[in-house]
Amino acid sequence: MSADVVATDRDNGVYQFQMDQPVPSYLIALAVGDIHFKAIDERSGVYGEAAWLDEATREFADVSKLIDAADELYGQFAWGRYDLLVLPSSFPFGGMEYPRIAFVTPTVLTGDRSLVSMVAHELAHAWSGNLVTNANWQHLWLNEGITSYVESRLMAKVYGQKRAEQELALNVEELKKTLASAPTGYNKLHNQWRGQDPEQAFNQVAYTKGMLFMRWLAAQAGIDEFDRYLQGYFQRHAFKSVDTNDFVADVQRYLIEPRQLSLKEDQLRQWLDGTDLPAFAVMPSPDTFSLIDGILTTWLTEQVPLSTLQTRQWTVQEWLYFLRRLPRQLSEVQLAELESNYGFSASRNAEIFTEWAVLVIPLRHPIIDEPLKKFLTTVGRVRYLEPLYRTLANTPQKREWMRKIYRDARRGYHPQAQLLLDKIAL
Ligand SMILES: [Zn+2]
Repeated sequence: MSADVVATDRDNGVYQFQMDQPVPSYLIALAVGDIHFKAIDERSGVYGEAAWLDEATREFADVSKLIDAADELYGQFAWGRYDLLVLPSSFPFGGMEYPRIAFVTPTVLTGDRSLVSMVAHELAHAWSGNLVTNANWQHLWLNEGITSYVESRLMAKVYGQKRAEQELALNVEELKKTLASAPTGYNKLHNQWRGQDPEQAFNQVAYTKGMLFMRWLAAQAGIDEFDRYLQGYFQRHAFKSVDTNDFVADVQRYLIEPRQLSLKEDQLRQWLDGTDLPAFAVMPSPDTFSLIDGILTTWLTEQVPLSTLQTRQWTVQEWLYFLRRLPRQLSEVQLAELESNYGFSASRNAEIFTEWAVLVIPLRHPIIDEPLKKFLTTVGRVRYLEPLYRTLANTPQKREWMRKIYRDARRGYHPQAQLLLDKIAL
C-alpha cells in the first residue's frame, strides 16, 4: 500500500494517511478510482481496476526476487511494502516511483514478463531517487542515471547478464540518436535548464548516459566494489537530497581515494559537462546481437525462407533489434512473409508493434491500418504515440487518415500527451 491509512470515513469520503518517512513533495500523489487489490506475496501486491489484476499479478510475480536482489546489493529496502498500481491506458508515461507503491502503465502487461525491466527501474528508485533524492531537477541525472544502473544490475541478477546487456545496447542506440539531434544543453548530464523546456529533460541522456557514467565507474573499481560503494552512498545520504557536486565529492572521498583509483577529475567533468559520450565509455559489446545480424543477412541476401530460420528462442530485445535492422524499403513480398511468419501487426507487445508500424506506415500498406487505429485509440503512452503520429504526419498520403483518428482518440489522451501531439497531429 501507499502511506498508512489511519482513519477512514467512507460515508463522507474522508481518508487520513500517515507517512513516517520524509519524502520530497514530488513523491506525493493520490490515486482515485474503482481500485481493487490482489496480493502477490506478503510484501507486494497489485492495485488497479478489477480487469487487470489477475494478469498483472502474473506479470509482476518476480517482484520479490528483484527486491531480494536489491537488498543484497544495495542495503535493506527502507519502505516496508512494495506494491504496484496499474493505471488506466491514458497514463502518458511508463511508470512513477512513489515510495511503497509504483504507478505503472498497462502497456507493461505483455503476458511474457518481457518488459518487466520497468518494474526493476521503479524499484531501483526505492534507493536512488526516493531514499537519496536529487536536490533539484538540474541534477535529474542523479535520480535517473544511477537508477538505470541499479535497474541493469537487478535485471542481470534475476534474468541474466545477457538480457541486461541487450537492453542496454538498445537503449544506447536510442541515446546516440538523442545526442545527434538534441539541441545544445539537452545532451549534457549536468544542465542548468535555464530558459529550456524541462519536459525535454527526461530523455535518454539523463537515463542512459547517466547509466554509462556509472558503468564506467564500476569498470574502474570492479563491479562488486562499485556495488559496495553505492550501498555506502545510499546509507550516507539516506532521506536527504544531493546535487552533482555532492556526488562528485562522495565519489572522490569514498570510491577513488580508498582504492587509489587512477581516475582524473577531467574524466569526471567530461561525463558531466560533455555534449557527447566520452571516448573512454564502456559500451555494450558489438557482438550483443551478432546472432540476429547473421540471420538477417541470411534472409536478405540468400533468399532463404523465413520459416526455416531459428527464431523460437529469441528474446523481445532480439526481436526489437531485428525490426530496427530491417531495410526501410521492404518489398510487398517481404512484408507479407514477415507478417505471415511473425504476426507483428497483432503483437501484444507495444514496443514490437510500434517498431513494426513505424516501418510499415511509410510503405502505405493497408496491413497496418486496422491494428494501428485500434492501438492509437486504446493506448495513451507518449513513448509509442509520438513516433507513430510523427511517422504518419511525415507520410503525406496518411495525413488525413491520421487527423481523423486523432480527433476521435484525443479525448482519451492525458492533457500532457494532447499538448505534445496537437503539434504533430492536428
Ligand atoms: Zn526513473
